[in-house]
Amino acid sequence: MTIVTVVPGIEGEVDRATGCINWQGSKFGNGYGRKWIDGKTVLVHRLVLESKIAGFLHSSYFACHTCDNPSCISPEHLIAGSAAENTGQMMKRDRKTPRRKSIPGSGKLSIQQLREIQTKYLSGTTKNHLAREYGVQHETITKILQANIPDNFITVSPRFVGEIQDNGCIIFQGAKDGAGYGKYVTKDGKQATVTRAVLAEKLGYELPTYIDACHTCDTPSCINPEHLWAGTRSQNLLDASKKGRTQGKSHPLSNAKLDWEQVREIRQKLAAGERMKDVAEAYSVGRKTIHDIKYHVTWKQEGEEVPIPRMGGSIDRKLTFTQAQDVRERIKAGESIPKIALEFGLSRSVIYDIKNNVTYKGV
Ligand SMILES: [Zn+2]
Ligand SMILES: [Zn+2]
Repeated sequence: MTIVTVVPGIEGEVDRATGCINWQGSKFGNGYGRKWIDGKTVLVHRLVLESKIAGFLHSSYFACHTCDNPSCISPEHLIAGSAAENTGQMMKRDRKTPRRKSIPGSGKLSIQQLREIQTKYLSGTTKNHLAREYGVQHETITKILQANIPDNFITVSPRFVGEIQDNGCIIFQGAKDGAGYGKYVTKDGKQATVTRAVLAEKLGYELPTYIDACHTCDTPSCINPEHLWAGTRSQNLLDASKKGRTQGKSHPLSNAKLDWEQVREIRQKLAAGERMKDVAEAYSVGRKTIHDIKYHVTWKQEGEEVPIPRMGGSIDRKLTFTQAQDVRERIKAGESIPKIALEFGLSRSVIYDIKNNVTYKGV
């Protein structure tokens, strides 16, 4: 039996097989060690973790065991909940209860930057240093360190926080109007629509008042730039029919079962609420074909989101070989596909295809 001191006053027995250090004192019913300190009961493993990271662990952080042994107090087997999120070891209990509250600092900094701040602090960077590096108040850093950021949260340019869904939609996390559209207050105090700001950022210019920010996904609260396009309905249809005639032949799917006329009909039917399954049957094609049409993965036209003449340069959606290589390396390094897709302004299926060597073979 080997007893070791983990931190002054806290000892445990080493289990040589697992490397765990088991608390020998009193325990809660769930197996966590407890100790009476300064007039209150504390969790021993939590105390050990605080000592390991040399700081006070806020109540919104979990002290998590990598060994799944609740009585273990080995500093080597303990991690903070938010650090777990960053290393992809997200705790299940966090996932079940995503917070809908606004996240401190997210108005000024991106979610990605907030995660960086939390990680840097856990690895020893001081609050003062972080405040200087990110150009915010010391007090803001304190709040950011206490924030619990769900791992599917993301900042959509220019500054809106959304939650990524399995279908690729990113649901805005702020105030919404009765119809479900996100709202925010501009610098000059006017109320404005989030989707318009996101689309303007994507296109690189302000939307004229007669242009709407429309969804391909029919989800008003979605702020994924990939699901937004600019146009009035009539302009868009006119534009699509013009482009359909001129670009249809050179389209990679020109030998497909469908033509532009049918694709437009299909999109109208989906927009009107018809189910993908039914539409697929009506046109004798697979459901995947309909899904890809719906999300403009296929039958995508150059500039279809801009029915008015472009003022800036056109957005080239294709990746260079170097970018495709970058995508593969980032997937290997464990980055999530939705996140990569968003950063490159592409749909997830494009990233999956790169991952699975369907496209950009041999890169
Ligand atoms: Zn352990
Ligand atoms: Zn969407």
